Amino acid sequence: MNRSTISLGRILGIPIGLDYSWFLIFGLLTWSLATNYYPVEFKNWSTAQYWFWGAITVVLMFGSVLLHELGHSVVAQRFKVQVRSITLFVFGGVAQLGSEPPSARAELWIAIAGPVTSFALAIFFSLMQPLVDTLAPVLAVTKYLAYINGSLGLFNLIPGFPLDGGRVFRAMIWGATQSLRRATLIAANLGRFIAFCFIALGVWQMFTGNFGNGLWIAFIGWFLESAASSQISQQTIHDLLSGHHVSDAMRKHYVTIFPDTTLEQLINKHILGDGQRVLVIKQNDLVIGLLTLHTIKSIPSSDWATTSAVHAMIPIAKMKWIRPDAELAPALEEMDRDGVSQLPVMIGDQIQGILGRDDIISFLRTISEFSRN
Ligand SMILES: [Zn+2]
Repeated sequence: MNRSTISLGRILGIPIGLDYSWFLIFGLLTWSLATNYYPVEFKNWSTAQYWFWGAITVVLMFGSVLLHELGHSVVAQRFKVQVRSITLFVFGGVAQLGSEPPSARAELWIAIAGPVTSFALAIFFSLMQPLVDTLAPVLAVTKYLAYINGSLGLFNLIPGFPLDGGRVFRAMIWGATQSLRRATLIAANLGRFIAFCFIALGVWQMFTGNFGNGLWIAFIGWFLESAASSQISQQTIHDLLSGHHVSDAMRKHYVTIFPDTTLEQLINKHILGDGQRVLVIKQNDLVIGLLTLHTIKSIPSSDWATTSAVHAMIPIAKMKWIRPDAELAPALEEMDRDGVSQLPVMIGDQIQGILGRDDIISFLRTISEFSRN
């Protein structure tokens, strides 16, 4: 989980996070409920009551979104797909899976589980209404939640990848063609088309007197378009890298330094001096740790003269590493998921090189140049 999220703990072992952007939608929706929806339904409430019930409704609404994501997650876990995290953010929620589903059938069930959960919640909140009809505010909240969950289920069934409906569509093509690659490209292109429809509809609404709503729809379209496009470029990168190994792209020349070198010395000599972004710390010919620009930057510059490399480095025992014969495409995907930009390449306790994200990018550039000829 990245730094712009607040941790809300774990459910079923899955870390739940709240992205800062969520507060924007929380504020907007609470405001809209407190100044529009509730004042129209209830004429005689106080202003504080409108805002209180508005906020309660939005919190319960995102509780429903969380349950939708947990619906996907429970089924994913049943198919032995790891769920890395669930994040609530401005456009709703997202459950990040550790890998692609193992089969078209798994993809189908994982995708459908979210909307099924939302429809179940819509039915639940509808059935609750007769039980709470003497408590006006609670009745209003259940009515709204029944409506929202129903809409959420329907909206997610739109067949534009990465929406759930788009995943159902991808699963069907995957099943029919037996090619995840082809299914991904077809589904992601349809996803882009649908996203452009959203943007067009949003812009049209903006210019026909419904500015707020239109802006929102256009934003959702923009978000879906960038998600679908990144899926396409990921697939392209995956195709280019397939058949290549870590040893093809790794950097074999790296700078080794002694553990007692101060940060100031190594910055002047190696980082400013010859542009290294990662340094290997060796003691008695054994690698004991790695120093990256990122780790150096986390130490205040006033301490650079007195801090030695061994105190600032990431110890090798705490680092992920990779073998030179590992496949390059999954290696890059793992680096992306873990947010790591440099990986030591090791056989046993011997370092063979460094695999940096920048190395993979320049390798990609080279092979795409060749594949064009
Ligand atoms: Zn979903």
